[in-house]
Amino acid sequence: MSSDRAPDALVVRYGEIALKGGMRAEFERRLCANLRVALQPLPRLEIQRTRGRILVRAGAPLGPAAVAAARVFGVTSVSEVHEVAPEEDAIREQARALTAAALERSHAGRARVSFGVRVNRANPLFPLRSNELASLLGADLQQRHPQLHVNLDAPELNVEVDVRDERALLFVERQPGPGGLPVGTLGRGMCLLSGGIDSPVAAWLAMRRGLRVEFISFLSPPHTGAQTVAKVRRLTEHLATWQPVTWLHMVPMTAVQDALRAATPEPLHTVLDRRAMFRMASRLARRRHARALVTGESLGQVASQTLENIGCTEQAARMPVLRPLITYDKVDTMALARRIGTLPISELPAPDSCTVWLPRSPVLRSRIGEAQAAEEKVPLEDLERQALLEIESLRIPT
Ligand code: ATP
Ligand code: MG
Repeated sequence: MSSDRAPDALVVRYGEIALKGGMRAEFERRLCANLRVALQPLPRLEIQRTRGRILVRAGAPLGPAAVAAARVFGVTSVSEVHEVAPEEDAIREQARALTAAALERSHAGRARVSFGVRVNRANPLFPLRSNELASLLGADLQQRHPQLHVNLDAPELNVEVDVRDERALLFVERQPGPGGLPVGTLGRGMCLLSGGIDSPVAAWLAMRRGLRVEFISFLSPPHTGAQTVAKVRRLTEHLATWQPVTWLHMVPMTAVQDALRAATPEPLHTVLDRRAMFRMASRLARRRHARALVTGESLGQVASQTLENIGCTEQAARMPVLRPLITYDKVDTMALARRIGTLPISELPAPDSCTVWLPRSPVLRSRIGEAQAAEEKVPLEDLERQALLEIESLRIPT
């Protein structure tokens, strides 16, 4: 057996052991469906659920597939595995080949490399116990590679063997996945996406919690232009790589904002804009069968995010508002934005419809009654309906 034989399959592991009340079956069904979409370009794709894991096979190299699978929400880790007959000789040969290849690839020239062999035996007919097989294999590998020394707690090289009824699976790496719940398990959410740093991160966290997220972005042409459109589009395209299908809805709200500006007190403008956004987003969400709004709000970050202003804004929503970042510090949000790759897009310069007209002294503690009284002076119902008629919707992938 040559050391560079390609892996035969992927093992995809998933967590959320605590799921109850039918959630587990839904989780597994969605996870397989989402994996299928993420791995779609592969020929002869087979996805099989077995003993709390998923085995993936395809008629193509599995390296890129492992990377794609390790991005699917719900996945805790992915390994490229070699399959052999569940017999001691075949397992030993494969363990030797994998170890030699791993040492050459990752630890070449090192005088000492810590290693461990872990065996999991699910086949009761296999003649050796797990730890017997592990020590036999360990001793054999040490004899061939004197630089190996045993460390079972935190080995640099971990040779793992999973002995099942019909075959044994061997692997030396576990690529970590993002965890969470498969997208769609919890239904749909409508994320209010600005071009800022926070809302894309909020959307990602909501997706990781099982929501399929659609995006609504409010634009103020001509104050916001092609740059702003390009930015929300790029953010959406990037976030779309974590779920099967993504929609971006762009709504021009200049007429709503102009009318509010003409008839209401300046300190209230930002809160009133937000209330209009929440109403329009709720209306669109209903149409799209979304059951929650998602925003990037974070307590106390800006004037519009005091508890009073969040309360006043929320009262205009017609469904639950999820705020995954509500307790995050900006540095934590930025670190996550960097990790998921949205930060460089968010940092591109482009005007945003809320910052086009920032009041000089925005109200810090707005009251619902005060906002409602101001809104009565403006034909918002008509203006908001009109704005939603001018919506432009984009499906990704197209
Ligand atoms: P972000 O970085 O997401 O813009 P922020 O900290 O700048 O957030 P605000 O500008 O006060 O905060 O916006 C709060 C939330 O309101 C945003 O996270 C987003 O969900 C929503 N929002 C703001 N402006 C828009 C917009 N033009 N279109 C859609 N949603 C918006
Ligand atoms: Mg913003």
